[in-house]
Amino acid sequence: MSSSDVRDTAVNRGRIKDAVRNALWARTAGRCTICNRRLLGDQRTYLHSVLLAELAHNIGATDGDGSPRSKQNDGVDDTEAEENLLLLCHDCHKIIDNPDHIDFFPPEKLREIKESFERRVEMVTENGGLTRTAALRIGCLIRGSLAMASRREVAETLLAVNYLGLVETQRSGDFACRINGSPGGRGFWEAAQQSIDDTIAQVRQAVESGDVDHISVFAIASVPLLVYLGWHLDDKTPTRLFQKHRDQFVGWSWNDQGNPVDFEIVAPEDDASAEDVVLVCALTSEVTHSAFPSAVDGAPVIEVRPIEHSPGPNLLSHEQSLANFADRWRAALAMAESRFPSAKRWHLIASAPVTASIEAGRALVRDIHPPVTVYERTDVAYEAVLEVYEQQAPQVPSQPRRR
Ligand SMILES: [Zn+2]
Repeated sequence: MSSSDVRDTAVNRGRIKDAVRNALWARTAGRCTICNRRLLGDQRTYLHSVLLAELAHNIGATDGDGSPRSKQNDGVDDTEAEENLLLLCHDCHKIIDNPDHIDFFPPEKLREIKESFERRVEMVTENGGLTRTAALRIGCLIRGSLAMASRREVAETLLAVNYLGLVETQRSGDFACRINGSPGGRGFWEAAQQSIDDTIAQVRQAVESGDVDHISVFAIASVPLLVYLGWHLDDKTPTRLFQKHRDQFVGWSWNDQGNPVDFEIVAPEDDASAEDVVLVCALTSEVTHSAFPSAVDGAPVIEVRPIEHSPGPNLLSHEQSLANFADRWRAALAMAESRFPSAKRWHLIASAPVTASIEAGRALVRDIHPPVTVYERTDVAYEAVLEVYEQQAPQVPSQPRRR
């Protein structure tokens, strides 16, 4: 070894902080910054990595003649700082510090190599892992007892789709909304909307503060409340909907077997004079026009229904079926706007599963669509129970009370 080969890089190496070493190992994903060689070795032995990996100075640690690039120091005060160090294999370290090659690796070149390497590691590792999500659970009373997805059901369902949920603090990971009372009870709909408003306000707060950037919805409630909930869900936050399936072995997970269902729009001709338009979703069962309220007598009816399937309780088991419905429903609303431009009110009558009801509400846009009255099926007829776009309780004509 000639004297010019002697490298003065050992000086001060002991001063490199552990935090700096760790940061370099992390940013390079444990590979040589120049040749991409894996420094940890194939065997998970600590010894191997110690032998292979070296921390190289860009600007040499001392001013001495043997200190690489120290004469080109363009303002590096702390030579032990992370910015001035590169994690390299022994061979690459030797090459960049060798007097014969040193001109090929001026400080800017090494900085550029380091930056682009670390950027590449960041890019390829950015995605992956489990998606963090917040659970929004809506439950109601069914025959006197609370029906709501349990924390355990939610955690299991989320894990099956590689989501990480219900492991956060109460504030950001689990939003539960209990709807008390029963639809026949006094003030039920107003109180239920208030419960949803309150829960949504908490979710919004968590989204605004950056605690939540993905929401998973698990709801059990009547159609009008689900429409109302859907209308409140913001379009900017990625949201996935789950529903409890009849098959207890499937539980809350989507069962993407078989072919997804498609949907069609059945609509009458244009009518520029129509002031009321009825929007019908017939997914769980047929919606019988004879049970329509007298308020919508003679109004045009736009219906979204399955193609090649009859409406039924198990229609939506494939998640793509839900996406197909949502697409078709949005197209139906656009059709309602263009064919019946004078409409002052839309009337939404749905026999639909939980997730489709939520999607029906999500598609409604204040200031673009007219106010929407949402109906609930009673034993005898469809009854107007709430209005989307209005804070106060709707003026609902009195109807015979359900048993
Ligand atoms: Zn290397």
